[in-house]
Amino acid sequence: MALTQEGRSLPALLKQVFGYSEFRPLQREIMESSLAGRDTVAILPTGAGKSLCYQLPALVRRGLTVVISPLIALMKDQVDQLDAAGVAATFLNSSLDAATQQQRMAELDRGAHKLLYIAPERVLMGNFLARLARWNVEALVVDEAHCISEWGHDFRPDYRNLGELRAAHPGAPIVALTATATPQVRGDIIAQLKLRDPAVYLSSFNRPNLSYRVVEKTKVAKQVWEFAAGRPEDSGIIYCHSRKGTESLADALRAEGLAAIAYHAGMEPDERARNQEAFIRDEARIVCATLAFGMGINKPNVRYVIHADMPKNVESYYQQTGRAGRDGLAGECLMLFSRGDVMKNLKFLDDITDEQAKRIARRQLDQMTAYGDEPRCRRAYLLRYFGEEWPEGNCGNCDNCLEPRETWDATVEAQKLLSCIFRIRQKSGFSVGWKHLADVLAGAKTERIEKWGHETLSTYGIGKDRSRDAWMDLGRQLAQQGLAELEAGDFPTVGLTEKGLLALKNRTPIHLARPHKPAVKAGGGAPRLAKAGEVPCDEGLFQKLRAVRKGFADTRNVPPYVIFSDVTLRHIARAYPRVSAEFLALPGVGERKLEEFGNAFMEAVDEWLADHPRQSFPGLKPARAQAPKRVGAASGLGATVLETLRQFRDGAGMAEIAQARGLSLSTIEGHLAQAIEQGENLDPIAFYTPEEAGRMRAAFEGHDGMALSPVHEKLGGEISYGKLKMYRAFAGRE
Ligand code: ADP
Ligand code: ZN
Repeated sequence: MALTQEGRSLPALLKQVFGYSEFRPLQREIMESSLAGRDTVAILPTGAGKSLCYQLPALVRRGLTVVISPLIALMKDQVDQLDAAGVAATFLNSSLDAATQQQRMAELDRGAHKLLYIAPERVLMGNFLARLARWNVEALVVDEAHCISEWGHDFRPDYRNLGELRAAHPGAPIVALTATATPQVRGDIIAQLKLRDPAVYLSSFNRPNLSYRVVEKTKVAKQVWEFAAGRPEDSGIIYCHSRKGTESLADALRAEGLAAIAYHAGMEPDERARNQEAFIRDEARIVCATLAFGMGINKPNVRYVIHADMPKNVESYYQQTGRAGRDGLAGECLMLFSRGDVMKNLKFLDDITDEQAKRIARRQLDQMTAYGDEPRCRRAYLLRYFGEEWPEGNCGNCDNCLEPRETWDATVEAQKLLSCIFRIRQKSGFSVGWKHLADVLAGAKTERIEKWGHETLSTYGIGKDRSRDAWMDLGRQLAQQGLAELEAGDFPTVGLTEKGLLALKNRTPIHLARPHKPAVKAGGGAPRLAKAGEVPCDEGLFQKLRAVRKGFADTRNVPPYVIFSDVTLRHIARAYPRVSAEFLALPGVGERKLEEFGNAFMEAVDEWLADHPRQSFPGLKPARAQAPKRVGAASGLGATVLETLRQFRDGAGMAEIAQARGLSLSTIEGHLAQAIEQGENLDPIAFYTPEEAGRMRAAFEGHDGMALSPVHEKLGGEISYGKLKMYRAFAGRE
């Protein structure tokens, strides 16, 4: 294991400072690549843990890491979070008064900071580059790197200044990070930043902890209310098309007793900022927003995103739903979908004058509609959109995979429609659009029908029993099945595919899925889909811990997640830690946070246990799709060892397990040591401190065998046999 300049390895710092004992997929590779001095591009979805990819290496470096970040609000947020973890970081931007700027510059002159966040426009201001030259810049980070691309949705011309920054620090490697999924933008990042032979890390865009669901839109306010009321403690974002829509929905929810606020670009800046702040600080649980909302939001515990109106393309849908569940806990994505919305969106297209823009918008709308209509896995649909194949059949976390839709026999209707397409082409020699087809089937009298003589077709009026909208709807579904397709040309016209022609000739039976019923079920609220990513815990205690957290957050004037994430609180509320070592073992607890907050949270646990029984919880399955498989885990372990392991994972201490099972402490230690040797995923920090680990490593090194007593003696008996045993187990595994 390579030791860093600071004498600590990356994994040791990961736990000590950020409180995590494992890297997320690709994090370590990205860090090592940049520490090796290479330009590095990281393309990972939201919530994958991109920030850590440059924050941790910054601690290893002697000099300064400069982070270019587009949003002032996010800089402060990041610095607050680093500060809470005990990392010296600061930011410079236009929100600071002159005196504060001077003070920070002086700190930077002294080398007091590891990280500096700046906005891109800063780079070329005054003599900033000259100033920067004095600060021993060792690494450059470009966050939200898609902002450099004109293809991207938030192009920022100032990002083009970064070339000069690079020129001024040719030796510093660049790390560029983005969650943008489109290949065009990815290519642009590398080209525009002029990266030198960059290492590119690209992960799957699957978000396993998010569930996807589409329901028929009926009464928006009622549907949203029912959903939100069923999740009274959770934060959610509800996207609406119009400013008016956000306000009327927020009013309706408030009238029913839910803490909802509106957010849109037309509001007074003050009010807008206040509302955003209230949401971030867990004061208003629900925000009804236009698309203006989201970019500046780092809130990790958004539990659901509802689209009350249909988004304009699949990419924005993916980005917006991506704001749920950044912390890795379960998040729900619900889209309310109606034919009416599709029609409305089609009408908007008429306002677009540029033909190419219109064609693109139309294709995007079709793709979005197809997502709503999709009878198969929605996750697979989204991933396919970004060019990824979803290998598994059933994702287990979308409506279609979990609740197969009812189907109906559409053979007769399909025959009518397909033959109508066929007949028109045969008679007129050209194709027509869905609307005209529907008119012919329904036996309408239109100018075009008369002009083209389509009332004489054998298929004219054979579909009087259904509305024109129903026919258009059916047409889209048949297209999705590959029986018909839009043909190239100035107007969208429909033709039969080979498959459609065969189906027509052979009268192939065709079954179509019915849409999902509006979500509402007995008991109120849509039934939850998501299980992936959930951390079962003592819900009562969790709420109490949230209150403790809010107290700290308000005193320090930061959002609650700066203190601890919901994930950490849930782990506290399942492990019931009573002593520091137990508390430190929890994810998200590093040394600084243990010191500052440990006692207060452990006291809250004590108080809770004084009048509530301790509960126990099943073990956790990681929600990460690419979580590496453990080798040989558990397979070679006997039942009694597995039982110890289970209880330990449920949060019981070793002494407690020994007592409960009527076994000696050293037996329990032996069980766990065995499990560790077999590759079970346990965390050393649960057994000894990093400082003790260092002493044990030194003591074991001088000895040939792995016998414990000489080592015990060498350490003057200061470290127990139990700890030595555990250390030996971990060391043996390496
Ligand atoms: P991104 O920028 O990719 O959207 P963030 O950097 O905001 O993601 O990280 C998302 C969440 O994941 C944060 O709450 C962060 O603390 C957490 N996280 C990051 N790395 C790890 C890790 N190795 N183990 C556990 N949690 C992590
Ligand atoms: Zn699915």
